[in-house]
Amino acid sequence: MDDDELKSRLTALTRDLILIPSTESRPEERGRCFDLLAHHLDSLPDVRIDYYEINDHRSMVVRPEGIQFPEVLLCGHLDVIEHSQPNCYRSKIENGRIYGPGSGDMKGQIAILTELQRSLQTRHPGISVGLAITSDEERGGLDGVRYLCKTVGLRCGQAIIPDGGSLNDITVEEKGVIHGRIRQSGHEAHGARPWLGENAVEKLMVRLTRLKLHFAKYWPVESIEEQVNHWFPTCCVTIIRTENTTPNRIPDQAEATIDVRFPPPHTLESMTAEIQELLGPDCEFEPLMTAEPTHLAPDPLFSEITAELTGNPVRLVKASGGSDSRFFRDHNIPVNLSRPLVGNLHAIDEWIDIESMVTYYRICERYIERKLNPA
Ligand SMILES: [Zn+2]
Repeated sequence: MDDDELKSRLTALTRDLILIPSTESRPEERGRCFDLLAHHLDSLPDVRIDYYEINDHRSMVVRPEGIQFPEVLLCGHLDVIEHSQPNCYRSKIENGRIYGPGSGDMKGQIAILTELQRSLQTRHPGISVGLAITSDEERGGLDGVRYLCKTVGLRCGQAIIPDGGSLNDITVEEKGVIHGRIRQSGHEAHGARPWLGENAVEKLMVRLTRLKLHFAKYWPVESIEEQVNHWFPTCCVTIIRTENTTPNRIPDQAEATIDVRFPPPHTLESMTAEIQELLGPDCEFEPLMTAEPTHLAPDPLFSEITAELTGNPVRLVKASGGSDSRFFRDHNIPVNLSRPLVGNLHAIDEWIDIESMVTYYRICERYIERKLNPA
């Protein structure tokens, strides 16, 4: 297939996918997305499609007949985030880009992975390549990639996840994450007699300030370069709440949610202990979602081919955000995490660059063909 034909196939499939609002609140739309992809793949001879479903989150795994653990697994998620604007799930083409919700995260990439699997299995029937599509990444990936790896027992030699980095930026490390809830209690009293009470909101504010001041010490004020590299712990207060609705009542309860990110040598254990210690004993801290910092161990051959096909050097980058990669790393599976050029992620005018979709496709294609050396 020449580049022009590939370009039009990838563009058409991406735009068809964007039209389906496959958000968390619409499981039937996510189902339609799976159907659309299956229609592109189910006519392949000797290819099996398996579905797994937990908590309303379906996953689809496409493998050649008889191959349970493929050498290379292409992996992506078809869920997109919820937008409140009506009829916004549509796309347009401008400046060589596809604009639309989910175009870059990651329906454009889903189109690439689906087309890769179709084309590879057609040209090299039975080649040891699998495709796994999940539908809960934006919610944390527990029912998707984690379920597939941990419960179903899906394994592979190498995972390819085009959901981070950039065309020439291959992610080598991701920060650890702690999303946690802080609960502070006090004693209620009338607002006119504060000496009789213990104000939970005010106590919480002091704790949060202590937390902010502590994390400020990690911030490399002196070095712009280190700030850009962002390879230090950060802490954001994202939600503050109290059940109190009465202006003249001193609240006896308040809570806050924080989002903490940290690189090695910090660990979940050391970071949680640090937070707990700063908050003090009368403050309850409950982790909601956690992940250790993750080293992805990308294949040097993938970097080599990326440089070859783009004519530009590859940067091995560290990421402040997380991805589904960590669930593969829990089972020691190496991950190649890079992607086409994308922008404005999670906005309505999110985009993916079409030329770079073709380049990324060719990178994966050549990588797989060189690595697996099919007849
Ligand atoms: Zn994503």
